[in-house]
Amino acid sequence: MRYTDWFEIVDPAFKSLILPNVHVDLLYTGGRWLEGPVYVPAARHLLFSDIPNNRVLRYDEANDTVAIFETPSNFANGHTLDREGRVISCEHLTRRVTRREHDGSLTVLADRFGGKRLNSPNDVVADSKGNIWFTDPTYGISTPYEGSLAKSEIASSNVYRLDRNGNLEAIVTDLKQPNGLTLSRDEQTLFVVDSGVQPARLLAYVIDPEGKPKNDRVFSECTSGMYDGLRVDSAGHIWTSAGDGVHCLDHKGQLIGKILIAETVSNVCFGGPERNRLYITATRSLFAVYLNVTG
Ligand code: MG
Repeated sequence: MRYTDWFEIVDPAFKSLILPNVHVDLLYTGGRWLEGPVYVPAARHLLFSDIPNNRVLRYDEANDTVAIFETPSNFANGHTLDREGRVISCEHLTRRVTRREHDGSLTVLADRFGGKRLNSPNDVVADSKGNIWFTDPTYGISTPYEGSLAKSEIASSNVYRLDRNGNLEAIVTDLKQPNGLTLSRDEQTLFVVDSGVQPARLLAYVIDPEGKPKNDRVFSECTSGMYDGLRVDSAGHIWTSAGDGVHCLDHKGQLIGKILIAETVSNVCFGGPERNRLYITATRSLFAVYLNVTG
């Protein structure tokens, strides 16, 4: 295949973001539903979830291999790093958000809101002020396949912000199934996917001085399958999962190009020493592609 077979250029602006001689690398296949990648720079590895198989896998960049990192994983889904380099996990089965400390011990960051159990935390992002933002849809309690069948105690699917003092606040409460989320580089905009509506929507919120999201607007509606996880690159483009691959949106939310992937994509994550390699979790497989832009 030629490189042009991997990319669909919708707007000429997309051409400057891709490289002429690269391929989409298939790094691993054999999962059931891969999601939740996080790149750990100090270790040069990528952790990613294989949710129905109740395990977290690790791709080692140096020797180009995949091995089991943790099993059982409490049906972990989304991961992120905080500013101290600690891995934060969303766990479906145990319905909580946890942090792996530098000494290897586990800290439960959040498992209840107002005394009621969370649904099944899905995706998480940490900001520079020490806040942790996460989504809590019902995908991990609506079927035992990705967790354990249970009723929602909270009876809504919210976006939460946990501040550095441990206060948990529901900051978006009117979405059907908040799923992937991320912050703009200046941390002034919160992006959240609602995958519980048709078509799936990417919403953008302005974060006010108190740290609360305001003025929600539909930033983009998905044109293939469903949006799930997403990342923002250093130039402000959004790279988001979709049914036919990865969609790249400009700062206005316009689709400018795609990375075409044969399997449904769930999440993406920038990695590599230069942060110019986009890792792509897609159904059974992990892919990666070098881009002409960094995360
Ligand atoms: Mg998700």
